[in-house]
Amino acid sequence: MPQRHPVLFVGAGPGDPELITVKGLKALQRAELVVYAGSLVNPALLGECPAGCEIHDSAPLNLRQTHRLLADGARAGRRVVRLHTGDPALYGAIQEQMDLLDAEGLDYEVIPGVTAAFAAAAALKQELTLPEVSQTLVMTRAEGRTPVPAPERLSRLAANGGTICLYLSVGMVEKVVAELLAGGVFTGRTPAAVVYRASWPDEKIVTGTLSDIAGKIAKAGIRRQALILVGEALGARGRGLQARSKLYDADFTHGFRK
Ligand code: SAH
Repeated sequence: MPQRHPVLFVGAGPGDPELITVKGLKALQRAELVVYAGSLVNPALLGECPAGCEIHDSAPLNLRQTHRLLADGARAGRRVVRLHTGDPALYGAIQEQMDLLDAEGLDYEVIPGVTAAFAAAAALKQELTLPEVSQTLVMTRAEGRTPVPAPERLSRLAANGGTICLYLSVGMVEKVVAELLAGGVFTGRTPAAVVYRASWPDEKIVTGTLSDIAGKIAKAGIRRQALILVGEALGARGRGLQARSKLYDADFTHGFRK
């Protein structure tokens, strides 16, 4: 049978089932086959799938097995959803899945999602880009089993300052702190925060500085499913209004306000 519907790669968001997009939710509500990333996708979202929808957890499956489910489902004319945590474009390993679909001439689309970094910023109630403090956000990870290209070494990224958000790295926090300090811009006093399971009911927030954050998260027992955020912007709360945005400044005219 020819493929009738593109395979949909859907971002499930960070955990809270209300943080999926309307489009992603509608895709789930129409799905006939769902393959979801079991470790971080909230199973409550699967309750949105219609009765009779076939649901698979991809955690115990390898790439080929996942692909077979998607490809065979699509070729059977079914509406197939591949549900990924956060946004599928970040550490989602969707490229290799899309390559395999391409190789079989199968069509697919991507529906974005709220990535963990923005759920963490929301949990912290913190803007990550503050005038005259930080205008750049770097999303990266520490090198683990997956290598990081040499020009993106954390010490080099840290030499730019700004706000850095680390995925998949909380288990290596000591190494992360050492590399961040090696950049020569951040110091032991630079604010740092760790958000565990942002937007889930058991969310935990730990705040500190580069000199004490490792100890604090060890004490809190956080070893996975957390983001590390670092940079002066994180310490701006309560520091007064010296770095206010020009956008809302009374003396700043722009296209919509003269
Ligand atoms: N595609 C996902 C990231 C997948 S990699 C996204 O866009 O968010 C998995 C890593 O993401 C975890 O190790 C953790 O660092 C981070 N992560 C995912 N969900 C999270 C959450 N709710 N709170 C904190 N960190 C989270």
